[in-house]
Amino acid sequence: MRIPMMAGNWKMNKTPAEAVEFVNTIKDELQRLSQIERVVCPPYVALAGVKQALAGTDIGVGAQDVHAEESGAYTSSVAANMLVGLADYVIIGHSETRQYLGVTDADVNKKTKLALKYGLKPIVAIGETLEQNELGQTTVVCDRQLRAALEGITDLQNIVIAYEPVWAIGTGRTATPEQAQAIIGGVVRPVLAELYGEAVAQATRILYGGSMNPANCADLMKQPDIDGGLIGGASLKVNDFIALTRIAIEVKALF
Ligand code: PEP
Repeated sequence: MRIPMMAGNWKMNKTPAEAVEFVNTIKDELQRLSQIERVVCPPYVALAGVKQALAGTDIGVGAQDVHAEESGAYTSSVAANMLVGLADYVIIGHSETRQYLGVTDADVNKKTKLALKYGLKPIVAIGETLEQNELGQTTVVCDRQLRAALEGITDLQNIVIAYEPVWAIGTGRTATPEQAQAIIGGVVRPVLAELYGEAVAQATRILYGGSMNPANCADLMKQPDIDGGLIGGASLKVNDFIALTRIAIEVKALF
């Protein structure tokens, strides 16, 4: 039985003070919705304040990225060991880091290994661009990104996968539930089964991300292989993030 998850990726939004104010507003209600895992991923500078504000709850905190090296001359970067105590999760391979920061498949693999080494749970994001989608390369791209991310990793227990078609992120254009299920249930989970066996594949959480909101969440969550959402825009709104969490609980009948 997989415990669904709603993870909010705040991207480059909210100052540390705004971040703390947001979680103080949302935390009591979110804490009551404990049937599923809830995670907020603020910018690095807000992690400490948010972690402190959420102390005593089981709401998780995630970082939005981590560097692929342990330490060194990487001005502006944050290493995995620096996140210990500040974050429970870390998003790795988000398409915006692939696109704007030049993060490669090999980097995603190194980051994932370092996150695991330091006890952080990776949320590994994969997904095709619009061009790749239109060229019919979705399956090939997702298959390649997933295998590369997991190369040499033997234990999937603490890893969450997020399928995020790039053309659906921040565009208001959601993958249809059938499209998302086709990749998550038809590509991602079968690759996990091939690499780790059916039992592990069935136990691994796979999220959908890309313009998920309270209006389309139920239909996405009704898909058997979709275990939750990695949410951008809608996670910045108190009511929407709570609504998404409630919908996930209702659809998966977790009362
Ligand atoms: C994301 O950034 O992971 C994301 C899915 O964004 P949005 O929900 O805004 O499309």
